[in-house]
Amino acid sequence: MIRKLSLRLSKAMFVICLLSRTLCAQTPPASPPKADSTVILNARVADGTGKSLRKANVRIVGDRIARIGNFKPEHKDRVIDAKGLVLAPGFIDIHNHSTDGLQTEPLAETQIAQGITSLVVGADGDSPWPILPWLDAVRKNPAAVNVAVMAGHATIREQVMGKDFKRHATAEEMAQMAKLTEQAMQEGAIGLSSGLEYQVGSYSNTDELVLMSTTAARNRGFYMTHIRDEGNKSFEALNEEIAIGERAHIPIEHSHIKVSTVAVWGKAPEYIRIIGSARKRGVDFLADCYPYDAWHSNIKVIMPDKQYENPESVEKALADTGGPDTVTITEFKPHPEYASHTIAELAAQRGISPVQMYIQIISEGDAAGTEAGVIGKSMIESDIKAFYQQPWVMVASDGGIGAHHPRGAGTFPRVLGLYVREKHWLTLPEAIRKMTSLPAQRLGWKDRGVIREGAFADLVLFDPETVIDRSTFAKPFELPSGIEKVFVNGELVWDAGKPTGARPGRGLPK
Ligand SMILES: [Zn+2]
Repeated sequence: MIRKLSLRLSKAMFVICLLSRTLCAQTPPASPPKADSTVILNARVADGTGKSLRKANVRIVGDRIARIGNFKPEHKDRVIDAKGLVLAPGFIDIHNHSTDGLQTEPLAETQIAQGITSLVVGADGDSPWPILPWLDAVRKNPAAVNVAVMAGHATIREQVMGKDFKRHATAEEMAQMAKLTEQAMQEGAIGLSSGLEYQVGSYSNTDELVLMSTTAARNRGFYMTHIRDEGNKSFEALNEEIAIGERAHIPIEHSHIKVSTVAVWGKAPEYIRIIGSARKRGVDFLADCYPYDAWHSNIKVIMPDKQYENPESVEKALADTGGPDTVTITEFKPHPEYASHTIAELAAQRGISPVQMYIQIISEGDAAGTEAGVIGKSMIESDIKAFYQQPWVMVASDGGIGAHHPRGAGTFPRVLGLYVREKHWLTLPEAIRKMTSLPAQRLGWKDRGVIREGAFADLVLFDPETVIDRSTFAKPFELPSGIEKVFVNGELVWDAGKPTGARPGRGLPK
């Protein structure tokens, strides 16, 4: 109510300013005045809550949605006719790896082209550090999109343990980690992330995670986690995650939910049942899922036992992931020519076994201080469908600017084109909810992720008949089609198939 009133007041002030320039002369505009008010006409509005579409006009004034309804545009309004298009809240990508990309490509073309208006970095336990200078830099050199940041568990663990991280932390070290978590939250991190399948995080125990999560929870944060195992031991890993949620009283965001090895393919329904009963017990459990049946990570991630040069272990790990012909190298600095080939192909070319090939790539990588990027088959379609149909599962990319996986440029249009229009797994309003108000709920954002008078004007206008991803494993940066216009904080950032150059993004929560 107060907000509506102040919006009307600021509108009134603007009219007064128009009438009398002298009255407002004490606050000269820093840049040439922009069209203050935009009306989107004839759109079918998906408001983000999951309600059915309704036809309405929407007026944007400044950075906010000022009016929704059946009204006529006024003289001063800039008018956009959106006949045939759907207007939705801008998409919120809760798991995005654009930490570096935002500095080199602040226009975030592959992101805004999908309709993403806010993204969250610092997932998988790996975040910028320290938090405040990083957020300040984003605020000083804004991107086209809004950005929020998680505090990374592994990042903090390394601050405390340095290179000596291949062990459980001592009580004093854990206390120090909790202290740094507190500091990160005070500086603007919105939660704690972990990546327990990765080197540094994998050596932590549950107590360490509970202690840090308790600190994050006290600061109104949530716990986002890439759990300890997404394959053979994914059920144990899920139970640990739920225990952390219960012991630390912290809301959970399960990253890129999957059952990703041969042994657990087809077991999504069982996974869902366990999560369902935790939710019934009061665990605030949400998850995100990317719309692809292949994962992208480093070559070591398929070996939970870390026996990278033990032929028996390697053989088992390759079989568990679906076989050496399902693991493709995406990038490898010591041998760029490996890229786009499977481990089976590379082995055949050299007349060695896939196991020997895997071990060779590991040792070549270790010698050069790097790891090969790989893509592997992550899930069967029935499992992806089962996850997507849960009301507590949202859409997120796990991609970002420069990602060598098609999810980096295709995730959101793919869900709208493939899962909604072609496969009918989801209704359009439900898919939009999973891209907007559901992530906003996890983030605690009340004024984003929804089309409501007074909310921020983060908006996407798209054609539901044509929207589709076009990025592939061979061409991961191809832009999608069907996303017509994107607004961030009331400013148009994507129009007519390209960025406008505007960078109105904010470093949230500010
Ligand atoms: Zn991850």
